Amino acid sequence: MVTPTRTDTSVPILTHWVAGKPVIGTSGRYSEVTNPATGEVTALLALADADEAAATVAAAKDAFPAWRDTSLAKRTRILFKFRELLDARAGELAEIITDEHGKVLSDAAGEVARGQEVVEFACGIAHLLKGSATENASTGVDVHSVRQPLGVAAIISPFNFPAMVPMWFFPIAIAAGNTVVLKPSEKVPTAARWIAELWREAGLPDGVFNVLNGDKIAVDALLTDPDVKTVSFVGSTPIARYVYETGTAHGKRVQALGGAKNHMVVLPDADLDLAADQAVNAGFGSAGERCMAISALVAVGDIADTLVGKIAQRARELRTGDGRRSCDMGPLVTREAQDRVIGYIQAGEREGATVVVDGRKAEIDADGKGFFVGPTLLDYVTTDMTVYTDEIFGPVLSVLRVDTYEQALDVINRNPYGNGTAIFTNDGGAARRFQNEVEVGMVGINVPVPVPVAYYSFGGWKNSLFGDTHAHGTEGVHFFTRGKVVTTRWLDPSHAGLNLGFPQNA
Ligand code: NAD
Repeated sequence: MVTPTRTDTSVPILTHWVAGKPVIGTSGRYSEVTNPATGEVTALLALADADEAAATVAAAKDAFPAWRDTSLAKRTRILFKFRELLDARAGELAEIITDEHGKVLSDAAGEVARGQEVVEFACGIAHLLKGSATENASTGVDVHSVRQPLGVAAIISPFNFPAMVPMWFFPIAIAAGNTVVLKPSEKVPTAARWIAELWREAGLPDGVFNVLNGDKIAVDALLTDPDVKTVSFVGSTPIARYVYETGTAHGKRVQALGGAKNHMVVLPDADLDLAADQAVNAGFGSAGERCMAISALVAVGDIADTLVGKIAQRARELRTGDGRRSCDMGPLVTREAQDRVIGYIQAGEREGATVVVDGRKAEIDADGKGFFVGPTLLDYVTTDMTVYTDEIFGPVLSVLRVDTYEQALDVINRNPYGNGTAIFTNDGGAARRFQNEVEVGMVGINVPVPVPVAYYSFGGWKNSLFGDTHAHGTEGVHFFTRGKVVTTRWLDPSHAGLNLGFPQNA
């Protein structure tokens, strides 16, 4: 893709946000931001070079000592203020998300609400940071532990949740006393800038929350900058692996959440109408551009024909179009994403899948040249087809047919991803066995998109997460702090004297 120059267009040029104010990009490199429902270019985004990244990290580093030493009472008050402002203005943020990502407004509002949950969790940081204390561990010796912030936290986010995914991390990072450089996806940059201005309004000191726009050059600069202490990444698996390997090689603490292929198992005893409703919701919500979307439905036993019929009927009723209209499903994020998804449907057909509902022929409620593909249902998919092996990240639901629970489990456990999964059944014993045996980080029992609440932690297994720590919840607090243990003795003259032996407790 040719990088547009500044003079190509009259659309606005989006800036970075550093030390509490907008900063105009100077690299001379730009990418286009589009409205996926119309295909229009709505802005140019200045992409940072390594010097601009270094200057942003330096601003965050400068802000760190004062923010770290700001009392928990003051920090918490700012978080509460941020929460109140976001509550009052959530609709504005939802509109920004719809205009750049394409998801329908109600879905965008839902994303903001799930992000807000993490802000609310972080409002309790004073409790979450409490250490422990022991009196008289040895005679006259006390021990206590504290958790302290690390410094500059880099957050690198994907296009599919412009607000929620950054909010998995920054409320906790900031509450714990770190400062943040957020590098949002270049496809959906405006939400991050809007959030930066909300933080300023909430009273956050300049430099505590910064936004650096850019692509691989900015990411590489963050991964190698010695002043960046933690990296929280969310995106596709190959980039997540690269970020994890590069960041850890440069001494950083890294959590890198990757791609997914989420299976929904339907056992023969399940309520098939409920299962069909949920398969449609989880397969086609946000046009399948969710890391927790169901993309493979594993039908067990002789229910497959009935279940596929029920899903097909529901999928055909969905209205696809501009997310600002009363539609169920919006467009894909870019023309490339649309072409990629259509390519997969063609490949599925070629490789022997049956196209039961064909999103290429869907009626679209939108003006202009948006990037639409309607809901698509493929049946008789097998584990060697590319529609199964690859993460499509579009509104394509593949049905695999198996005879037994064991075969369904085997399909999931052999898959290299392990983000989310769900089982639909009325048999508690089968569900319990599944939660125990399945090798996936987040499991739903009659819940198709089991995104944990903020006080639990979000994260997958296998190729869906690199690093030891999941996002938010207590694992998030641990990621953004490090432990210190203090051993104290208040001396009196009886403690005088030399002793070179290893300290022993008495
Ligand atoms: P992406 O990997 O293309 O981009 C993610 C981020 O990495 C962006 O900020 C981007 O600018 C940056 N980036 C892109 N190419 C890079 C490179 N070569 N080197 C360094 N940085 C680079 O992902 P995306 O298309 O924006 O998002 C969709 C992907 O994210 C899907 O695979 C989806 O499953 C995944 N995702 C995972 C989760 C999860 O929790 N596991 C959540 C949301 C999205």
